[in-house]
Amino acid sequence: MTAAPYVPETRSLRVLADAVQACRGCELYRDTTQAVFGDGARRAATMVVGEQPGDREDLAGEPFVGPAGKVLDRALGDAGFDRRSVWLTNVVKHFAFRRQQGSKRRIHRKPGRTEIVACRPWLDAELRVVRPSLVVCLGATAAQALLGSSFRVSRRRGELITAELGEPPRSVDVVATVHPSAVLRSDDRKRAYAALVDDLRVARAAAG
Ligand code: SF4
Repeated sequence: MTAAPYVPETRSLRVLADAVQACRGCELYRDTTQAVFGDGARRAATMVVGEQPGDREDLAGEPFVGPAGKVLDRALGDAGFDRRSVWLTNVVKHFAFRRQQGSKRRIHRKPGRTEIVACRPWLDAELRVVRPSLVVCLGATAAQALLGSSFRVSRRRGELITAELGEPPRSVDVVATVHPSAVLRSDDRKRAYAALVDDLRVARAAAG
């Protein structure tokens, strides 16, 4: 399974965003409303990468518009970023979920490795066109997809790392932190939020 045959050779993010709707690179397109491509500034110096669109994003067709997105917006602002100047995206472009038994409610499930690998050509296309100098990974799925499966966010969050990313590979600064949904799940939201902002401040300083 791979998205590769569906990714057009183009420098246009608009063309990529249209093309992703026809992707059948894995099974996730079934049962979803639409693919959710990245969004933001075309030549953003900073790319923020999450895991996958959630229920709200699937319905809206835009990344980070749900509750976690609101946390991210506030944290980016508190760290000194302007959300409009970054490119926001996910490693997987369709919503992975399971149905709650006896209900229509869609419960987020972590995308599998096969789905993450299948979807990677879309993220590589975004990296190729946007050409960020800094990538912020939100959560373990994004960090391990970009920095390797042995990467542990819990140990290395907030650390400035240089990595070869994209296809063809290019040297990029990377900072990994938790996904903003982890702040919402935390018993101590205030503290978890402050730690997220601290990590994003490292990224902001590296972005210059
Ligand atoms: S999740 Fe990615 S690879 Fe799978 S169908 Fe959607 S866009 Fe294609």
